[in-house]
Amino acid sequence: MIETPRKRVLLAKPRGYCAGVDRAVQTVEEALKLYGAPIYVRKEIVHNKHVVTTLQAKGAIFVEENEEVPEGSTVIFSAHGVAPVVHDQARERNLKAIDATCPLVTKVHHEAKRFAAEDYDILLIGHEGHEEVIGTAGEAPEHIQLVDGPEGVDAVTVRDPSKVVWLSQTTLSVDETMETVARLKEKLPLLQSPPSDDICYATQNRQQVMKQIAPECDVILVVGSRNSSNSVRMVEVAVNAGARQGHLIDFAHEIDPAWLEGATTVGLSSGASVPEELVAEVLVRLAEFGFADVEEVVTVQERLIFSLPQELKRDMKAAAASS
Ligand code: SF4
Repeated sequence: MIETPRKRVLLAKPRGYCAGVDRAVQTVEEALKLYGAPIYVRKEIVHNKHVVTTLQAKGAIFVEENEEVPEGSTVIFSAHGVAPVVHDQARERNLKAIDATCPLVTKVHHEAKRFAAEDYDILLIGHEGHEEVIGTAGEAPEHIQLVDGPEGVDAVTVRDPSKVVWLSQTTLSVDETMETVARLKEKLPLLQSPPSDDICYATQNRQQVMKQIAPECDVILVVGSRNSSNSVRMVEVAVNAGARQGHLIDFAHEIDPAWLEGATTVGLSSGASVPEELVAEVLVRLAEFGFADVEEVVTVQERLIFSLPQELKRDMKAAAASS
């Protein structure tokens, strides 16, 4: 008798929400409870379709720029961070600004300011046009130049090769960034590294577990939106590490049955801005295709939690005291 191969899912952990996303989403939810709808949010609070539509349904209004926010209203800045000029614009419009920038992005802003104050040339490795990069570069535009991957190295020019430092976006591929740095160091041997890792713990952990499961997987599914840098990188990392196919999906219904033909092992994970309920829906869908056997592969436990923005906590305290 020919045995049917066992179909299984390797479920990666850590996956899904990181501490910065959790804090940013909670910030909007608590602000809605405290001040009432509408609450304006500049840019997508985190890069996930489902999160954005859920918050919209609760009364959040997403805008691109402060100019779209009525004077005197409350505006929340997204987890990706903003340039100082955005804070200035908010003050000019008399907006009550709540800054939900992830503290790990703020850390990179501080590094940029510090090195700019010491008159360094700063090479910011990141993706052109990404909100986080625009925000970080806005801290010291005259000192920062963007290096978008290894191919961007040739175009780099600096004033003093002995006074150059590299920093990076928090959600890049660790391996590709190291390749970019290696090329930069060939060109600029005295290039300094950031005082600590700029690629955040959540990005690194999600990529690490993908590398571990990928060689065993016929197909890797990452739940995440196309504009989510860390989610896109997870698919790339998985394919580079040996997964035969990798796909990014927002929702379970996007799984194409053709991807699963002949597959016995599916790897599943989710980006740092993805709520767990979307992963649960994918598991239900995979079970319908016969992938009911789920094995969780855990590489590390994440315990980091960030407290809510000070300005919001202050108002919450005051409201609690007066009630
Ligand atoms: S992915 Fe990293 S930097 Fe971005 S919000 Fe999460 S913890 Fe912060």
